[in-house]
Amino acid sequence: MCGIIGIHGPAAAAAPQLIFGMAALQHRGQDAAGVITYEGNFHVKKGLGSISTVFKEKNIQYLKGRSGIGHVRYATQGGAEELNAQPFYVNYPFGIAMAHNGNVVNFAELNKTLHEEKHRLLDTTNDLELLLYTFASELEEHDLKNYKVDDIFDCAAAVMKKASGAYSVLAIIAGKGLLAFTDPAGIRPLVMGRKETPDGPSYIFASETVCFDYLGFEHVRDFGPGEAVFIDDEMNVHSRSINSCAARSFCVFEYIYFSREDSRLNARLVAGERVKMGRKLARRLIEKKIEPDIVIDIPSSSYFVASGLAEELNIPYRRGFARNNHIGRSFIMPSQIERELAVRKKLNPIREIVAGKKIVAVDDSIVRGTTSKHLVKLLKDAGAKEVYYATAAPPVKFPCIYGIDMSVKRELLAGYKSEEEILNIIGADALIYQSLEDLKSLYEDLGCCYACFSGEYPTCASADIIGEIEKERICSKRE
Ligand code: SF4
Repeated sequence: MCGIIGIHGPAAAAAPQLIFGMAALQHRGQDAAGVITYEGNFHVKKGLGSISTVFKEKNIQYLKGRSGIGHVRYATQGGAEELNAQPFYVNYPFGIAMAHNGNVVNFAELNKTLHEEKHRLLDTTNDLELLLYTFASELEEHDLKNYKVDDIFDCAAAVMKKASGAYSVLAIIAGKGLLAFTDPAGIRPLVMGRKETPDGPSYIFASETVCFDYLGFEHVRDFGPGEAVFIDDEMNVHSRSINSCAARSFCVFEYIYFSREDSRLNARLVAGERVKMGRKLARRLIEKKIEPDIVIDIPSSSYFVASGLAEELNIPYRRGFARNNHIGRSFIMPSQIERELAVRKKLNPIREIVAGKKIVAVDDSIVRGTTSKHLVKLLKDAGAKEVYYATAAPPVKFPCIYGIDMSVKRELLAGYKSEEEILNIIGADALIYQSLEDLKSLYEDLGCCYACFSGEYPTCASADIIGEIEKERICSKRE
């Protein structure tokens, strides 16, 4: 999971806005951050770590130009080293800078084609390079002296045809404009905004709308599957629906966990979606005849799920854990040991609230189970009478091959353990998962990907491809 942002305006410097917007997307990745702007030449600053580590005042002055793209990275495909920090660029044709969020699943096949047919060799292990070189190779086949906007869309269409997987892409084509497009199944999010300025309209593209709120842009639209928008240098907007699958497969985990609660994706406030998930989850507790005294959330992504559940059960919501906000989300820590340490330092149960109570502890999901087990123990040690562990997500049984750090099957607890075994492992008094049917019922009109719950992948996903992605992830974690 990564975050992307792009700005193309008539006059104002893009870099300060990009970096401020990236701060609002920081929850999507803290392994690396980068910005590239364009003003006659490309200007680049990128490095390992969070935005505050990578960018200093002097960098912002150096990043000149009214157009730019920014990226915050959580490493999945390719290791976490600096070489893989985005954006990337090539100087021919025209000069193209690119950043993406997602994962190209036919990496090996596309890499082979680029090498054998286009004689291009990758510098990194990052799948963005495949998208960039495929796009550049297509563009150089066109008549560059008589360039037309349709050529840009043709090249985006060629990328969509050749690259299977999940990707939202932003690209600056030097002296021409800013391009944004999504994969044919529309798996990863991409939103567009607009702001009136004294010099004319300014446009923004991002993974989530939350950065529009920070930067004063109005949300114009969400991208559908296989859509592309190009803002030319005269600030004209061109858009095409290029190559969409019959059905959309938007990542449902964006609503469960990844996106910020104050973002709006596909005209749905993420917080509101979580309340609905909590209401559905409450029915599962009623079916199991579980009668808790209070509901608490596992901070911070499950607050709204917990509040929806509490409302539906008509019992109080309480804040059972105090959180240390100076440590990042445990899920996006790069290794298991760091994750465990982070959980220990991050959450402290409030004894006076939990002692002697039957508690429903609401989490977004159980992936590896380490966090859940530790939190149940913390609650019991603090005097909780009974702990019922409830999750907004169904059991995560299958690897995600679309750029989320759930690609190693043996790390997914529900992939090889029964519900009863998981209950014993985490040490709770009951385990309540959202049912997949209930989750699906919330998104019938949208069309979502549920592959990590059902094993039904919306793109090509042979056993070989799943195995390759898993192997690559295991190797990159050892780096
Ligand atoms: S497999 Fe799961 S995490 Fe991956 S894109 Fe689909 S819903 Fe999202």
